[in-house]
Amino acid sequence: MPYILPELGYSYDSLEPFIDAETMKIHHTKHHQTYVNKLNSALSEFPELQILSVQELLKLLNTSQIPDKIKTAVRNHGGGHANHSFFWQLLKKDVSLNGKISDVINSTFGSFDKFKENFTAAAVNLFGSGWAWLVLNNGKLEIMQTQNQDSPISLGKTPVLGIDVWEHAYYLKYQNRRADYVTAFWNVVDWERVNENLKKTI
Ligand code: MN
Repeated sequence: MPYILPELGYSYDSLEPFIDAETMKIHHTKHHQTYVNKLNSALSEFPELQILSVQELLKLLNTSQIPDKIKTAVRNHGGGHANHSFFWQLLKKDVSLNGKISDVINSTFGSFDKFKENFTAAAVNLFGSGWAWLVLNNGKLEIMQTQNQDSPISLGKTPVLGIDVWEHAYYLKYQNRRADYVTAFWNVVDWERVNENLKKTI
């Protein structure tokens, strides 16, 4: 089993009351685990691909190195595994905005409030299931949306911040009120981690 469910590194109730423990538990142990299982199943006949990290698989998604018969599975389940692994690490309460990300957001978007407004709109207005992202694209920050479990990595972009807006990410606590979940999300962004992400290029 080349791909495994990563530990969160914190307890399921750590993000209360913003993201509830039951949602975190089901999201991690059921939803994320299923992406991992289905990715492993899809790659079972391809040992030469199993040695690659999920990020490497996604970078190769649109090349002939990923056989056509498993492209959809890598896109959906590889994307799901990578996106969720990234998302868990972003979440922590009581970390205030600090460091280089603060400066780069101000210089790119004019102010943090303007960035927050645009990112929130991307998250709230995305139709159906998907993600809103802050990514690095050729060294420049931009906000983008992806549908389903599509990953910015497959498009050559490096995720810096992201929010899962599938209903499974918020329905137990917020029901249809996605905007309330997105508002709550700002209380659990680990800006230290976002600063770390800014230094990486995938
Ligand atoms: Mn999810």
